[in-house]
Amino acid sequence: MARKKPKQRPQVGLLGKVLTRRSKGRCELCGGKVDVRPYELPPFPELPDPERTLMGCGRCREWMERDRIDPVQAHFLSQAVWSEVAPVRLAAARLLLASEEGIDDPWLRDALEAARVDPESGEFVTIEEEWRAAGS
Ligand SMILES: [Zn+2]
Repeated sequence: MARKKPKQRPQVGLLGKVLTRRSKGRCELCGGKVDVRPYELPPFPELPDPERTLMGCGRCREWMERDRIDPVQAHFLSQAVWSEVAPVRLAAARLLLASEEGIDDPWLRDALEAARVDPESGEFVTIEEEWRAAGS
């Protein structure tokens, strides 16, 4: 499911201060400190939004870019899906979806539920949708 991704854009620099404060200069997915930069999650809003952007280290940004993860190194994702920072949950869920496990894996389902991300759309489940799902 390698969807084409829009290129990261320079305007994301506007969020520098906010993101640095939130992340304390660390990758918000794995806590790494190597080559940490903002990463906007597609689809991009008109202006960069901290709710759609996270700080990622070189490795994590590359994974997000390629929709591929190295399962051996990816254990931190199971923590990241519980993050209080929405874009971190979304990024972690998308990376888990990119893993080879397949959506039938009960562990993966739980992780996506924790992140409140819909496996079909790779987007947040809205409250309304949850109600609808619960009612059907
Ligand atoms: Zn990282």
